[in-house]
Amino acid sequence: MTSWLNYERDAGVAPRKAAAVILFEQTTSSVLLVQRNTSLAFMGGHHAFPGGGISHADTGRCVRAVDDGELARAVTAAVRELFEETGVLLATGAEVTEQQQAAWRAELLQQPEVFEVRLDEAGLHIPGDRFVPVSRWVTPTFAPKRFDTQYFLYRSETLQPASPIGDDGEITDTTWLNVCEALDLRAKDSIQLSTPVAFVLRRLAMLPLHEALERLQHTPGFSELIFEYIEPEHGIHIVPLVSKTLPPANHTNCVLVGETELAIIDPGIDDTVAWKRFERHLDEILEMAGGDLYAILLTHDHFDHSAAAHRLGRRYNVPVYAHASCREKDISLVHDACIELAGTPPWRIRCIHTPGHHPGHFTFYEKTTDTLMCGDLIANPGTVVIDPECGGDMNAYMRSLERIATLTPRMTIPAHGAPLMGHAGPAHIQHTIAHRRMRAARIRTALEQGARTFESLLEIAYDDTPRSMYPWARRQLQAHLNAMNIAVS
Ligand SMILES: [Zn+2]
Repeated sequence: MTSWLNYERDAGVAPRKAAAVILFEQTTSSVLLVQRNTSLAFMGGHHAFPGGGISHADTGRCVRAVDDGELARAVTAAVRELFEETGVLLATGAEVTEQQQAAWRAELLQQPEVFEVRLDEAGLHIPGDRFVPVSRWVTPTFAPKRFDTQYFLYRSETLQPASPIGDDGEITDTTWLNVCEALDLRAKDSIQLSTPVAFVLRRLAMLPLHEALERLQHTPGFSELIFEYIEPEHGIHIVPLVSKTLPPANHTNCVLVGETELAIIDPGIDDTVAWKRFERHLDEILEMAGGDLYAILLTHDHFDHSAAAHRLGRRYNVPVYAHASCREKDISLVHDACIELAGTPPWRIRCIHTPGHHPGHFTFYEKTTDTLMCGDLIANPGTVVIDPECGGDMNAYMRSLERIATLTPRMTIPAHGAPLMGHAGPAHIQHTIAHRRMRAARIRTALEQGARTFESLLEIAYDDTPRSMYPWARRQLQAHLNAMNIAVS
């Protein structure tokens, strides 16, 4: 199955099948959220909808009114996880005392497979028709841990009492939050919401309920309602778009920044079908933000970053900002320019000229959220190609890395690969600097040892590099030699 991004599924870790419940209470317009333990590697500290992996033991046999076996298994997993994490049991047919439920819950922590057995014994069933399948989210391929999660919306008549179990578990808090309040808290940086939560809450907050439900089931721009983007911070969307880029990367991160006036960075999409979907997705994001596209920014005009810039600019009637040397630009960027976007407080994107990979390369630093969007300055994982035939300059590149290494962003988003949180960003930049210095030192050593031809230098200085990567290694070597002012045959 291909998604709207035409993702190569095997390009990343295989996603684990999972299910989650959006428990919604209409009179207070609230949803039940769980807070994940801050020590967890995946989404630690985030508020999420209760849910988790579908177990081989989730047979779906207790679910009524659902014909599809896979869907019944997903409903079972969602109900089991909801019960484990919050104590809310969405099963009917018999009375079960609080003590009995508490005992089951404790038992489930050790043996999730007994869930359906206990339901059977007590004469309980799951009313499957009350679980409305809404969107399905797949963690983008760049993430080390991935889930393919089916979300179900369940309308609850009351704010059912909920609480986490025990100390230091996976879940440290459970809370009913009004949808607008939750979004406000996130905008103020008081809580972190997972991307699906932010997506669902925004629609519940902005639209009448029937329309919100309709939109959650048929969101424009998404085939089969599969979502593969992340919004790690309020107002920062990262959409990994399949692009004609260099391996091992297979996508370019297109980043949307802002609240009511949005800037879009590096729209590198060049596939007609994917473009159509992206356009609808973008329109939907703009509608939900109640805003407009304000600017298109290019880190540089390599095709995998700029392919859709002109087309996007015409469609939304907004200018393309890029370095003077870039063909696609409408407005030339100069070093230290600041692009301001409306918001409270306003969003301010500082443009930092960072040549090296490309003479007109810019890095964008959004000061309000402390987010660094550094294009092809670094890649995660891997290294960026400095190709002298495409304007690559190793000395300029090292100076650019050193300039950016002094910043302390909360999030660093490379054009290819996963975003880096907190210290990991500056640390990765330092690592890239060290890696380049190591390579230059190895080339110098090879020269001292008497290597005089280009090929012999390559053999010695890049002996740790797979042969398949030699076409790129040749360009890097040439860039290093140019930087050292050394000519070899
Ligand atoms: Zn590039």
